[in-house]
Amino acid sequence: MEIRTVGVVGAGLMGSGIAEVCARSGLRTRVAESNEEALAAGRRRVERSLDRGRQGGKLSAEDVEQITDRLSFSATLDEFSDCDIVIEAIVERLADKVDVFSRLDRIVPEHAILSTNTSSLPIMEIARATGRPDRVIGTHFFNPAPVMKLLEVVRTIATSDDTLNETRALGEKLGKRVIVAQDRGGFIVNLLLIPFLNNAVRLYESGFATKDDIDEGMCLGCGHPMGPLQLLDYIGLDTALFVCDALYEEYAIRDYAAPPLLKRMVAAGYLGRKSGRGFYEYEGAQKR
Ligand code: NAD
Repeated sequence: MEIRTVGVVGAGLMGSGIAEVCARSGLRTRVAESNEEALAAGRRRVERSLDRGRQGGKLSAEDVEQITDRLSFSATLDEFSDCDIVIEAIVERLADKVDVFSRLDRIVPEHAILSTNTSSLPIMEIARATGRPDRVIGTHFFNPAPVMKLLEVVRTIATSDDTLNETRALGEKLGKRVIVAQDRGGFIVNLLLIPFLNNAVRLYESGFATKDDIDEGMCLGCGHPMGPLQLLDYIGLDTALFVCDALYEEYAIRDYAAPPLLKRMVAAGYLGRKSGRGFYEYEGAQKR
């Protein structure tokens, strides 16, 4: 099956980037959000990103017009009845994802693949909410989706070979390097990354080092493009907390348990860049 039309559910940080990547690769892209306000915010996020691409010389005005023409936005899933694949990128909560998948299963064509961008949840639990577990798969994009080269494709014990191959081909069409992981909490990348991030928070909360020294240590000492506390602000502390909780639930290993400071910061609404304050403070996209 050749994928021509893609649906994206959720136009937050990830969904808006994934929708942009799909439309830029020539695919008709339908985007759905839970309400009109979130939908308008998602549309603005895509428009701003395309505008940055135009100003930086990566896209011409004509490219932007064609990409915009391929994108459509709606506050319901009903527009997805002609989609070949739907990529879900809503909040990292199992009950919400299960609800969306069971509704999608009734709307999309029989041949369509249903994929989730979950960072940590058991995909088999999501797949069983549908009548097509063999067509359910994980497509784990990285933030920002238009820039990051990796796509982690996650197959469950029920995913068919056709579904895996068609999803891999889609990832390549989107210009991504595809790696394949099993449906185990954290897949490959977060399984390794989360203990590192949690240990950075623990170093900071124990007073062992300042946040700037921790971040500079990893940037200048290990060649990372940003430090772990900066990266947490970038990911969103609420999303990181969901991931820690899911991985701790899966493995009961202390490395995955959310440090108390991370939980308190989320409780305080310090979610990182998206709320203007996390480990650092932000004005627009600028760190202060
Ligand atoms: P986000 O909070 O920025 O966006 C989530 C969006 O989903 C919001 O706009 C919200 O309105 C919308 N939404 C919630 N319920 C919905 C529903 N029922 N129907 C339609 N829309 C709904 O979160 P995000 O960072 O974009 O994360 C989305 C998913 O991507 C999560 O599963 C997360 O684990 C995963 N992910 C995040 C990152 C990251 O760095 N932030 C990286 C990879 C994967």
